[in-house]
Amino acid sequence: MKERLVHRGMRYRCATCGYETMMWLEEGLEDRESKEKKPVPFIIRCPKCGEVFKGMRHVDFHKDVFLKNRVPLDLAMNRFENRKKSDCGVPVFTEV
Ligand SMILES: [Zn+2]
Repeated sequence: MKERLVHRGMRYRCATCGYETMMWLEEGLEDRESKEKKPVPFIIRCPKCGEVFKGMRHVDFHKDVFLKNRVPLDLAMNRFENRKKSDCGVPVFTEV
């Protein structure tokens, strides 16, 4: 299996319960260096309180992390996965 790498971290915070986490992005998502350029959703369902509309949003853009050297996806990371069948990043939460 091809190694899956992440290249960027974006902070998301829930507008309802305040839950906050770093979401790591797989290659091909919001990725300037990849041929594949899929977006990630700006608003996602909060895994803690279940809120959607007032759920998790990308916040603190200045705290985005751009990894110079891409690192292997750690399955413990909260992340957006790049799945073939999806036109945008799919959020996966493992730490809540
Ligand atoms: Zn919440």
